[in-house]
Amino acid sequence: MPLSPEQLAEIEDQRSAPRQTLRAVSEGMENHLYRAYDVLDHGFIRVIDYMGDDAAICQAARVSYGKGTKTVQNDAGLIRYLMRHWHSTPFEMCEIKLHVKLPVFVARQWIRHRTANVNEYSARYSIMDREFYIPAPEQLAAQSVVNNQGRGEALTADESARVLDILKSDAAQCYDHYAEMISDDGKQGLARELARMNLPANIYTQWYWKVDLHNLFHFLRLRADMHAQYEIRVYADAIAKVVADWVPAAYGAFEDYRMGGENLSAQALDCVRRMVKGEKVTQETSGMSKGEWREFEGVLTK
Ligand SMILES: Cc1cc2nc3c(=O)[nH]c(=O)nc-3n(C[C@H](O)[C@H](O)[C@H](O)COP(=O)(O)OP(=O)(O)OC[C@H]3O[C@@H](n4cnc5c(N)ncnc54)[C@H](O)[C@@H]3O)c2cc1C
Repeated sequence: MPLSPEQLAEIEDQRSAPRQTLRAVSEGMENHLYRAYDVLDHGFIRVIDYMGDDAAICQAARVSYGKGTKTVQNDAGLIRYLMRHWHSTPFEMCEIKLHVKLPVFVARQWIRHRTANVNEYSARYSIMDREFYIPAPEQLAAQSVVNNQGRGEALTADESARVLDILKSDAAQCYDHYAEMISDDGKQGLARELARMNLPANIYTQWYWKVDLHNLFHFLRLRADMHAQYEIRVYADAIAKVVADWVPAAYGAFEDYRMGGENLSAQALDCVRRMVKGEKVTQETSGMSKGEWREFEGVLTK
């Protein structure tokens, strides 16, 4: 179960007592505040707090541009300008604090994003819940033959069933042993900080994760991307939906310039210019390696 009855009651409580404030409020974000959105089989994301909105980005930018911004038509135009020119600090004026429940192996990828503040559930202090990520059968796939870092062809129904059996029985056995080791019923019982080493990486953990919008966009650019592992991508996708409502102008610019845009090397740009002039450019005449050319063609034909 993604949320405990206590957590559901807490959310109900928080949403039933609105308060007046003088702070900037994003109507789109108010609708999401505290609500949990399910991710994977037992996970979720929910917004605990936030600061700023599209206007806060412009307000900060205008400190640096002053009267110069009079030439900028509107806030959305200014935000697009900032995004286009990598003027990133105004985006750092907005912050978001999320409560996330996620499998430990996803947390290991997530925690690599160092420009955030994290507070995680303590498995030294508390007993871990008996909750494990068991993939949906359609997510079970063989090692990719083209990408060493990914999955490829889907497993057959028989093989999926075999794999799911192994995952479920190993998780159950590990947790049983964990529970047995920490039990002090008629024995000393092992400390929780030691017993947890027996738990598999698909067990769920929880944390509070606070990050500014600039670094969140960086996270989303990498983790909502098709090259990211599915299990972290679904979290990034869920967060992206919330961000789109929180700062619609900034998210629109991010989608356009970062998610939908591409970085081209000088060599690739030269090829584009030659193509525009009517030259037939091939991998051999491009000066690019086979891998670079394949990716370049992918960009052009996407
Ligand atoms: C598809 C994919 C595959 C990956 N595969 C691997 C892998 O095989 N092995 C592996 O170890 N990691 C892997 N990673 C993790 C990756 O290398 C980064 O650690 C992760 O994406 C976080 O990126 P970041 O450092 O830019 O983010 P953040 O830590 O949020 O940092 C944001 C930016 O701040 C700056 N910054 C932050 N801290 C420092 C610092 N101490 N010094 C200098 N600059 C800093 C950098 O400019 C950085 O880009 C993978 C990531 C992706 C998306």
